[in-house]
Amino acid sequence: NPRVRFAPSPTGYLHLGGLRTALYNYLFAKSRGGSFILRIEDTDQTRQVEGSVEALLSDLEWAGIKCNEGPGIKGEYGPYVQSERLNIYQEHIAKLLENGSAYKCFCTERRLNILRRDAVKSQRVPKYDNRCRSLTPEEIKEKMDAGVPHCIRFKLTSDCQFFEDLIFGGIAYDVSLNEGDPVLMKSDGFPTYHFANVVDDHLMKISHVLRGVEWQISTTKHLLIYRAFGWTPPQFGHMPLIVNADGTKLSKRQSDIKVEDYRRNGVYPLALVNYITLSGGGFDHVPGAGVRLKTMEDLAEEFQIDKISSHPSRLNPDLLEECNRLEIKRKLNDKDQSKTLITTLQDVITKTYPDHKLNLTDDHVKSVLNWSVSRISRIEELSSKKYGFLWILPKNTSKVDQELLKKLVENLEGLETFDQGSLKENLRSFSANNNVKFPALMKMLRSVISGLDEGPGVAEMMDLLGKRQSLERIKAVVR
Ligand code: GLU
Repeated sequence: NPRVRFAPSPTGYLHLGGLRTALYNYLFAKSRGGSFILRIEDTDQTRQVEGSVEALLSDLEWAGIKCNEGPGIKGEYGPYVQSERLNIYQEHIAKLLENGSAYKCFCTERRLNILRRDAVKSQRVPKYDNRCRSLTPEEIKEKMDAGVPHCIRFKLTSDCQFFEDLIFGGIAYDVSLNEGDPVLMKSDGFPTYHFANVVDDHLMKISHVLRGVEWQISTTKHLLIYRAFGWTPPQFGHMPLIVNADGTKLSKRQSDIKVEDYRRNGVYPLALVNYITLSGGGFDHVPGAGVRLKTMEDLAEEFQIDKISSHPSRLNPDLLEECNRLEIKRKLNDKDQSKTLITTLQDVITKTYPDHKLNLTDDHVKSVLNWSVSRISRIEELSSKKYGFLWILPKNTSKVDQELLKKLVENLEGLETFDQGSLKENLRSFSANNNVKFPALMKMLRSVISGLDEGPGVAEMMDLLGKRQSLERIKAVVR
């Protein structure tokens, strides 16, 4: 059974791209009865952001992505945090030193800077000149005895490595053309990403590595490290870039790309997850089928890695709204979840109108929700001014015909059924019987009922508010 991993570095918030990587790994594992492992890659201590591991775990849980192994979860292959595995990397670097695939490098930062500067000056690709490869055992001993700081580098061989990318197809690349020997172990005893990643994927028996396309260029380097150990590498698949709807690159500052922000702004986990798969692929595409919200179980069942597109995934924010709308609909049809929706909306409205007497009965809130589902995609929208009439007594600003409205109250009080249909009919005949033009009556009534010049149909609003509320509002302007 496949074993896959999500291996984030705790350098900040989880963004949409990270969530996509986690999600596809998870779906891949679930679709094949495999395991999903979480590994924290915190070997670059300078780039760490406090609290990001906790935030990450919380975001994954929120999204419905459950780990089979990982920090704080039992597993045979831990620890799952790289900074707790330093002895393991030491042990393994010794093997590469021993078999001649790696060597100690004593070059100073200063020398490396000079090499870089010279390369830039003469317009060459800056790369390490592999000088320390040719140190003699005596020279090495001398430097070691003198306590000169050193890192450990990998001897790149100049041969083209090939692999079959699960998403992009065949990839061939000779790393040594553009890079000097890469560092595996830094002078502070911490491994680099490339080294720790290979060692851990092997020891954790990872069968498939699915990650962002920015790592594709490193994969052939990783293959050389696997070969130096004599290990069989896992299979690799890289996910394309996520771009804006117009194909332009996402900027780091686009805050809407943080999972945390989606959460805060009333996006539901299942909506976000479906949105990701709609943009990224991984499923049979049924043309013209429209957007259908899939549960995590459906997604896991239907996922096919070869259906992930290798083209950049374009984000279409309208799709997210559509998914969220569908999720509200789904929740409304579920007894427990609709209760939660009602409470959420009650809280939102109470906060919006702290100084008002509010109509927030469960019944009213529920009928508002049912009505609004085709109009909104986030619950919070119902707190906007446009929907104020649903909750508070409006301020009527239009001139009203008192006598006419008095008659109307009498008339409406006698109505047995107070729904849209009968209201429409009744208002029509009322306008005819009282010699007032229907549009004029509606205009007046609209203002009295909602305080708005435009909005939903008058009968529709009255139906929504109910008989008592509607009459109360009309009476409020009749002295
Ligand atoms: N730690 C790397 C990252 O943050 C993981 C890359 C990989 O999956 O190999 O993206």
